[in-house]
Amino acid sequence: MAKTTHVAAISIPAFSHQASIIEFCKRLLHVHRHFQITCIFPAIDAPLPATLSLLHSLPPNIHHTFLPPVNKHHLPQDVPPAVQIQLALSQSIPCLRHALESLHSTMPLTALVADHFANEALQIAKEFNLLSFVYFPPSAMTLSLFLHLPTLHHQVSSEYRDHQEPIQIPGCVPIHGRDLPEHFQDRSSLAYELILERSKRLSLADGFLVNSFPEIEENTLRALKEQATGVPVYLVGPIVQNGLSSEANESECVKWLDKQRLNSVLYVSFGSGGTLCEEQVNELALGLELSGQKFLWVLRAPSDSANAAYLGAANDDPLRFLPNGFLERTKGHGLVVTSWAPQTRILGHASTGGFLTHCGWNSALESIVMGVPMVTWPLFAEQRINAVLLTEGLKVALRPKFNENGIAERGEIANVIKGLMIGEEENGIRQRIEVLKDAATGALKEDGSSTRALSEFGSRLENFAGHL
Ligand code: UDP
Repeated sequence: MAKTTHVAAISIPAFSHQASIIEFCKRLLHVHRHFQITCIFPAIDAPLPATLSLLHSLPPNIHHTFLPPVNKHHLPQDVPPAVQIQLALSQSIPCLRHALESLHSTMPLTALVADHFANEALQIAKEFNLLSFVYFPPSAMTLSLFLHLPTLHHQVSSEYRDHQEPIQIPGCVPIHGRDLPEHFQDRSSLAYELILERSKRLSLADGFLVNSFPEIEENTLRALKEQATGVPVYLVGPIVQNGLSSEANESECVKWLDKQRLNSVLYVSFGSGGTLCEEQVNELALGLELSGQKFLWVLRAPSDSANAAYLGAANDDPLRFLPNGFLERTKGHGLVVTSWAPQTRILGHASTGGFLTHCGWNSALESIVMGVPMVTWPLFAEQRINAVLLTEGLKVALRPKFNENGIAERGEIANVIKGLMIGEEENGIRQRIEVLKDAATGALKEDGSSTRALSEFGSRLENFAGHL
């Protein structure tokens, strides 16, 4: 009798990563219907509500389990959320080993797929004699950067932002050191040390699964194949959210969009946890107003830390930070919703003609899949390199300028928005993104690159399971 192929997929306590790996598992199951998959979620304090709502609609072959939550108060409080997540993950490793042991004894595992933040799990896969793969929710460019980092670390002795030459990540558009993720900006920090360790551990993987597709990152893929020395790189993207529900805001947004003209609305959102400082919220509001364009803005209370809301939102009412009279003046012209909106429904709506985004990779891919041109407003993590890819590489986005205090001023914001929403005939952005949209659709077809990559990946697991 054929052996069951059972895969454990391990994520991290961050919604966009959990949502991405769940969607990856669904795609894998679409191609290999008889696989069994168990998603394992570490947690900080408690499972994330938005993830819980995704778990209601899983197919029967996808199981899930939450590891005992790490208490947020037991994590250092003076480090960024990304470091807290990494440390929570390290603290969860003994529970993860235990969970894998018990899974393996119930239904033998073939392979472990770990989010790149969770790559400490690769070591456990070796202990259990499993194949192990790293799932990369972000771009191939980000994977290339991480694979290249140990070399870059030796080549460059200064802080990267002070390095005169552009940084050449293999297969990618050259970028300035200041556009590297923010945790690369202080090489003496714990955040950088953890990233470097994580990069070195990538050599333990039997292969990489990347949420991208050839037409957007062809050169990078070629370079990755050389860098990944002998292990396969599967481009399994675009993996995007499929109708995430956000209850109360959903019908309000869609009803409002239904009343607007084709491609007339700019959607403004900074992902699942991005925040702006108070001055920037004010400038953005006035910039939106000045642009004269229709907008749908997902507003969060301001904070001086750009990813403050990543591990839980503040309780402040975001609306009270808007400029005086803003809501009255823009009534009918703009819709402001607080905290969360049904993003894929909005991007897929015919009235949405532009997306001002923090350039999280999921948001960028969702915009490409729906053919919506972008204004890039990167905040943290690898968002700045995504912004470079979108503006300079793929040329499907415009990037506003920030002043010496890191603020984009209202006049600049208004000009960039107008450039995107009414000047796009000249700059050709909409035509270019339509081409990418078609390529994304093609990648997901039965004979498309994503489906073929998943098929090859699955065959590798089946062969391995057959030889156990
Ligand atoms: N998202 C959403 N509604 C919101 C904000 C975000 O549905 O109001 C979803 C969005 O569609 C995407 C994910 O959350 O799938 C955000 O992921 P991304 O990688 O763009 O950014 P991150 O949250 O990791 O910063």
